[in-house]
Amino acid sequence: MAAARKALLEERSRLRDELAIAIEAPGQMTYGSQAAAATHVFEQQRDLALRGRSENQLALVEAALARIDDGRFGACVRCGQPVAPERLEALPWAEHCIDCARLRSGSRRHRPNGSSASLRSAKPPGDSRASPCGPHWSRTDRPNAPTS
Ligand SMILES: [Zn+2]
Repeated sequence: MAAARKALLEERSRLRDELAIAIEAPGQMTYGSQAAAATHVFEQQRDLALRGRSENQLALVEAALARIDDGRFGACVRCGQPVAPERLEALPWAEHCIDCARLRSGSRRHRPNGSSASLRSAKPPGDSRASPCGPHWSRTDRPNAPTS
């Protein structure tokens, strides 16, 4: 238990550092070329994805620390069964026993971010080809309308 708490506290400070760095990242640089701008957008999206993951992780770590304080640490939050010690050793912030974790990951698959972003940015909302009456969205509503 003390080891888990220590690991959680270390993970929490690591994640907080990581998130603090992400906040300070410069967002207002000028770029000489479209390629650089595109790279910048890509990096921003990647940073956002990483940041979201760090925030989720931080929330898990803080919830686990709260469970230690409450004396509920080590019990699955879904079924209440004890989480295997080796699992807690590897993932002290684990909320679920291995069975529940498997159930969750089976029902809700996470896709790595990246391929969906490029598909999404090129298309207007809705599929205009499907409508015989023409597009219902106006030009000014386009998500990536040219600004220059
Ligand atoms: Zn469970």
